[in-house]
Amino acid sequence: MTGRRFMPDQEQALSEKDYWLKDFRCPLCGCVFQTIRLKARALTVVKREPDFFVQYRGNLPWVYEVAVCPNCAYACEQRIWKDLVIVDRDGLRKALDSVRPPDLRSFTSERTMEMGLTSFCLALITYPFCSARYYERANLALRAGYLARGYRERIEGGSEASELEFKKLAHEFFLKSYELEQIEETRFGVSGIMYIIGELYRQLGDYRQAVNWFSKVVHEKKCRPQILRLARDQWELAREQYKAEKASE
Ligand SMILES: [Zn+2]
Repeated sequence: MTGRRFMPDQEQALSEKDYWLKDFRCPLCGCVFQTIRLKARALTVVKREPDFFVQYRGNLPWVYEVAVCPNCAYACEQRIWKDLVIVDRDGLRKALDSVRPPDLRSFTSERTMEMGLTSFCLALITYPFCSARYYERANLALRAGYLARGYRERIEGGSEASELEFKKLAHEFFLKSYELEQIEETRFGVSGIMYIIGELYRQLGDYRQAVNWFSKVVHEKKCRPQILRLARDQWELAREQYKAEKASE
């Protein structure tokens, strides 16, 4: 992998004290397996960014977040494994068969970051055949983008291409979730979802839409205080970016 080497001072092999093995039963094929679950203390935060991205030193949590069945490639985030219900078993089997990685069994042990990204891609294929709402699919794509970014910032010559693709997906799914779903009770809440839509518009270069959405967030009656602070800052930034873009036309 020329040009994609880890920076030596940030490389860290997974140590046995950093994880435990969690039991899973695949809802698609019935296979019982164990997979790595990182302990919270194995994670060292370096910085937090306005789109809720957190950079870590050493282990990146997203690498192991998606558990993958070693028999059929069914993939789902560990935290919602028991909640997801398959609604089209034949469709899901066919979809997974067509993309099945040859080394499936290795996903249950120590993973490279590339394998982490592949596990997210498998989950993105799995979710549409299950009960996952656009909100869960959006979160999945957002976190896949975090992994791509966490990876890119720590390697020499990492590309932005896959990060951008995941961001576009997250943006599309959050918009659909906002328009079509009951989102009051979600972890993001209505104001959080409106805010992340604005921030993704900004990161994707549509500053006018970003300004519109941040303005909506600031005027939202039930806006959470943390979201209100972030939205004010990013609103200001998006306005400056919009003006600069207009001036250069
Ligand atoms: Zn399976």
